[in-house]
Amino acid sequence: MKTTGRLYHAHSNTFIYCELSLSDECVVFSNDEGLHERLPKPRLVLGMAIKGQAQDITLPDGRRFLCDDKTFRLNQHSTSSFIERSEQHKGLVIGAIFFCPLLLYWLFFIAIPHVAASSAGHLPQSVIETIGQQSMTLIEKAALEPTQLDEQKVANAERIWLELINQLQLNEQKYRLGFYQSEFFGANAFALPHGQIVVTDDLILKLADYDDAFRAVLLHEIGHVEHRHSVKIAAQTAGTTVALAIVFGDLQGIVDLALGVGTAIMQQQFSQGMERQADDYALSNLLKLGYKPEHFATALEIISQGTDDDSQSWSKYLSTHPHVKSRIEKARTYKHP
Ligand SMILES: [Zn+2]
Repeated sequence: MKTTGRLYHAHSNTFIYCELSLSDECVVFSNDEGLHERLPKPRLVLGMAIKGQAQDITLPDGRRFLCDDKTFRLNQHSTSSFIERSEQHKGLVIGAIFFCPLLLYWLFFIAIPHVAASSAGHLPQSVIETIGQQSMTLIEKAALEPTQLDEQKVANAERIWLELINQLQLNEQKYRLGFYQSEFFGANAFALPHGQIVVTDDLILKLADYDDAFRAVLLHEIGHVEHRHSVKIAAQTAGTTVALAIVFGDLQGIVDLALGVGTAIMQQQFSQGMERQADDYALSNLLKLGYKPEHFATALEIISQGTDDDSQSWSKYLSTHPHVKSRIEKARTYKHP
């Protein structure tokens, strides 16, 4: 077998023309200008055979030979030719078109959430603390202002909070309550992975005459922390970011990882299952502590007033807490499980 092509110098775009001939198990490179090199085939590194491209050959010293004939293959019966044949197999190509999206769906919607959910339970508290604090810094910068509530309202909310933490025998160092004014969140409360719970001025004002309802909202948020919902979302976001970076080869995406986690928590993308768990936590603890589960229904009803107008801030709390009617109904009829 004889063929012609370009012999590139190592790590360079410069080349010389030469002839390649195959004899026994040796490859000979030669030209009119005195080149004559004989190399045993096993010492050559063969490139992958890609349809429409000649197979490139790398010499031991780093030089590369590229054949003029695009159908050139030095190894006819290797893995590469298997890949090449596969690429020409219609059934396999059609199969791949269906299989690849399925694989990506499985990866992003089943595998990553599953791994994230199970890993969330094993993350050390120090990592959770860091994720929580970083997210809080981001959210504070983006959407929170210092509270404008008067001292009396803050003191009353703090009294209810501390009473609750003591009754539930939770760690006062871990669980902290923060008061903020926020256009973005409107009347809202949300929990960060490390145990900080944020309540907005609008929420406090709306529930000013309903201490029991406010207590129910706090219990719901504590439920999110106890079930590690934000940690799961953070782990899922991190997993998705890394997987996307690997699948699409964009490793720059990993740099934005911390930002992605903060944004996900800010958007409070809790699943309905997570909301149900937090509701159950609130309802069962209301009963356990001697309050009525109906107070949670009252909270939802008061907050949902005025949701017809989308610009009304109250609607935000409910848009992040779906199926409010069924949740109100559940709270009204809740009995101890
Ligand atoms: Zn919730």
